[in-house]
Amino acid sequence: MSRVTATHPACIALGANIGEPLRQIEAGFSALAALPRTRLLARSSLYRSAPVGYADQPDFINAVAMIETALDPHALLAALLAIERAQGRVRDFPNAPRTLDLDIVLYGDLVLHEPGLTIPHARMLERAFVMVPLAEIAPDARVPGQGRVSELAARLDAGGVAQLRRMPA
Ligand code: ADP
Ligand code: MG
Repeated sequence: MSRVTATHPACIALGANIGEPLRQIEAGFSALAALPRTRLLARSSLYRSAPVGYADQPDFINAVAMIETALDPHALLAALLAIERAQGRVRDFPNAPRTLDLDIVLYGDLVLHEPGLTIPHARMLERAFVMVPLAEIAPDARVPGQGRVSELAARLDAGGVAQLRRMPA
C-alpha cells in the first residue's frame, strides 16, 4: 500500500431521489470510503428534503461526507462522476430526479472557478439540504470568503430539511 501524502480535507454532498434513495446514499458512502488515496472521516445523518427547482418529483435523501484525500480536485470530481455513472445515473435535464448526485462542496480552503468545476460549490450557501448536514459534521469549517459553516447554515430556512432517525442497530 502506498503512503498517502499531502492530503486535503474535503466535503462531499450526496443526494438521491429515485430508485432506493436510502440504499443509494449508503452505497455512495461506501464508494467514497473505497476511493484511492482517500479516507472517509465522517458522515452526517441522513436527511429528507423537498425537491428544489423542478418540484414534481420525489423527495430527496441528502447527506454530507467529510473525507481526507490526496486526489487533486479534478481527479476527485472524475472519481465522483464515475461513482454516479456506476450507480446508473442518467442526466436528463437540470434538477431532474437522480439515482445519486455527488458534489464537491469544499476542498480545504481552495477557491476554484473553472467551466466544469467550481469550489466551493456554487449553490451551497443557498441549499439548506447541503448546509444543514454539513453543519452537523463540520460546524467549524470555513467557507472561503464567506465565514463559518454553522453561522452560514443558521441563516437558512431549514424547515424543508428533516433529519431521519437512525435505524436501530
Ligand atoms: P447539480 O449537482 O448542480 O444538481 P449536476 O450534478 O448535473 O448538477 O452537475 C453537473 C456538472 O457540474 C458536473 O458534470 C460538473 O462538471 C459540474 N460541477 C461544477 N462544480 C462542481 C462541484 N463543486 N462538484 C460537482 N460537480 C461540479
Ligand atoms: Mg452534481
